[in-house]
Amino acid sequence: MSRSKSNTSSAATRISSFVLIIIFITLALALAALILAIYLYNTEPTIAVYWLLLGFIGLALSTYVLFQTRQRILRLRIETPPITTTIECRKCGFKSIREFQRGDYVFKEVEPCQKCNEKMIITAIYREVREKGKKPPFPY
Ligand SMILES: [Zn+2]
Repeated sequence: MSRSKSNTSSAATRISSFVLIIIFITLALALAALILAIYLYNTEPTIAVYWLLLGFIGLALSTYVLFQTRQRILRLRIETPPITTTIECRKCGFKSIREFQRGDYVFKEVEPCQKCNEKMIITAIYREVREKGKKPPFPY
């Protein structure tokens, strides 16, 4: 039983798991404060209000941080542009673009042409870059 882990987003997941632990601790403390507030409500209503406030602040803070981290991770994933493979037919010049597949290399013979049934070859493999001058952050 061996499962291959993707090492491309390992840094992002490492950061998020650390933040998640903090968020869950904050959430647990906030819930404890809320429970305490309920217990204290009958005997010490003024103190109960403070605990209630603290609990709600904790809840709001943890959900806010959770939302922020989720967005940051999503942005990290989006910023990695996809690799594209261009396939061309030598006979009729038919061009086809598809996503890069493992084992692709330039001048490799691939599936036959859709028009003339001649074998097509890979002419280019490149990474699509949408934004100029902006490098995706690599926290290694
Ligand atoms: Zn062709």
